[in-house]
Amino acid sequence: MTRTAIVTGGARGIGAATARRLAADGHAVAVVDLLEEHAAETVASITDEGGRALAIGADVSDADVVAAAVARVADELGAPTILVNNAGILRDNLLFKMSDGDWDAVMQVHLRGAFLMTRAVQAHQVEAKWGRIVNLSSTSALGNRGQANYAAAKAGLQGFTKTLAIELGRYGITANAVAPGFIATDMLRQTAERMSITFEQLLEGAAKEIPVGRVGQPEDVAAAVAYFCSEAASFVSGQVLYVAGGPKA
Ligand code: NAP
Repeated sequence: MTRTAIVTGGARGIGAATARRLAADGHAVAVVDLLEEHAAETVASITDEGGRALAIGADVSDADVVAAAVARVADELGAPTILVNNAGILRDNLLFKMSDGDWDAVMQVHLRGAFLMTRAVQAHQVEAKWGRIVNLSSTSALGNRGQANYAAAKAGLQGFTKTLAIELGRYGITANAVAPGFIATDMLRQTAERMSITFEQLLEGAAKEIPVGRVGQPEDVAAAVAYFCSEAASFVSGQVLYVAGGPKA
């Protein structure tokens, strides 16, 4: 069945791959990102393949902007019943060097952003008596040096997910989290810079530590998200699926 999906942070990386995958699965997809022109690139790749998509520029941490964005999706694509909270940023630093701003920025995008988007979208899902919510967590939720802010936010998203599953299950809505390990996206270019190594060196080093012998690609994560969004996954809720090429972070 065709549904309307919203993917935040869909301009690039995991979000772009997820938007393309959900479109390929037959859904209309709203691609939300900070800049509409960046989201438009993902939209073009979907419409070129015959899919239906809409680019929306919105900061997920701004309540008014989020409400307007979700209303626009409902008007132009139809009531959104699939939500993928994927938008994210890194502000890595060791705790003793982490600024208030680094802490707050990460909480704003990951936690407040997921909260605001979900609160706005659940109204449509409850009305439809069907919904899928997928939150992007991370193996960093288990703890990662230099990421006190990000690890706290990603662990927080797991608690958020489980609570959504409990509150919304009676309305035919499931909520799950996908927790990727090392996925080759622009986000990790910043990590390479912080470590003063090239992106290629970072990928090579990471692949050696991963049981399947390679780093992840955005499409690996998109496939897991697509499963949780499927009709077949209606009895799977409140789960965290680690997509990391092995059992550990
Ligand atoms: P990415 O390539 O950096 O893409 C993130 C996207 O989110 C960017 O397009 C960014 O826009 C957008 N964004 C940032 N702040 C936003 C805001 N306030 N409102 C709307 N959009 C915003 O990241 P990625 O690697 O694909 O990661 C996607 C998700 O997976 C994130 O939640 C991340 O934490 C998680 N994750 C990634 C990995 C990994 O290895 N890559 C591992 C585990 C979890 P701009 O480009 O304009 O800033």
